[in-house]
Amino acid sequence: MRAAFLFPLKNLFPAASLLAATISLGLGLSACDSKTATTGEARTPNTAEKTVTSGTAATAADEADPVKAAANAAASSATPAPDPSSIPAARAADGAAIFARKQVPILCYHQIRDWTARDSKGAKDYIIPVAQFKAQMKMLADSGYHSIQPDQLYAYLTTGAPLPIKPVMLTFDDTDLDQFTIARPTLAQYGFKGVYFVMTVSLGRPHYMSKTQVKQLSDEGNQIGSHTWDHHNVKKYQGQDWVTQIDKPTKTLEDITGKKIKYFAYPFGLWNTPAFPELKKRGFVAAFSLAEKRDQQDPLFTIRRIIASGYWTPRTLSNSIRQSF
Ligand SMILES: [Zn+2]
Repeated sequence: MRAAFLFPLKNLFPAASLLAATISLGLGLSACDSKTATTGEARTPNTAEKTVTSGTAATAADEADPVKAAANAAASSATPAPDPSSIPAARAADGAAIFARKQVPILCYHQIRDWTARDSKGAKDYIIPVAQFKAQMKMLADSGYHSIQPDQLYAYLTTGAPLPIKPVMLTFDDTDLDQFTIARPTLAQYGFKGVYFVMTVSLGRPHYMSKTQVKQLSDEGNQIGSHTWDHHNVKKYQGQDWVTQIDKPTKTLEDITGKKIKYFAYPFGLWNTPAFPELKKRGFVAAFSLAEKRDQQDPLFTIRRIIASGYWTPRTLSNSIRQSF
């Protein structure tokens, strides 16, 4: 499928076009297959909420905004992970050592909204109904999962730094508005933080997040990453494409957040090895793909995620996490 055809289609039906592109490119997303995993799970008491809310005095302003209250509580109780730039290269493990470490489960979400009659069967992998999303988040919290941020993952992968028990990373691609209106308060309810990979062409458009909302997510302790300008396939970039798809969006996101943009998610999860040096020289320290295999020499630039399907019950998600990572 040609990229020129993809973009207009995506504007109308982002999830559907993602799936169409994935299928047309022959990508195997077996780890996301809703047919996987049906066995039961052991639940452990919820520790996430306790960690976030203990030992902090909520202000009156916090009480009016539970998301801000949770953010403040987390900020005051959590030990921040080191910035990747502060980790000396000599201390960092090589690719083989990073590849050998146990992978952290990373979930990828797109739209969070109830299905409509227009949603195709395939698109529903990329559109999770609101109640299903909330049930998935509740399962993670009830099972004792702790959300981690990319700096924590980076420190773990490069230096073996410890992670919280049952770590999980929650990532959101494509800038969809419901990631702010639905995911943000739901994550806050459980003391979770997210990672939002923003496609800058969408900022401020109907059904997408605004710059102000992206800044708010960043200010509240979530990570903002780059997901290109308009979702073109990284494998096809030449010359000026790197400026349009990577340099300018990075500048836009840094201007919005006031923070360095260090993490990247490949559109459609598609990557090739020539992209790694291009991303590195632009300041990225890690990049996220989807369920396919990692690059053994450069696992930091092919960190795997699975798409948490709209079809998945909390139990299916729990089993998929264990089977896929
Ligand atoms: Zn995307």
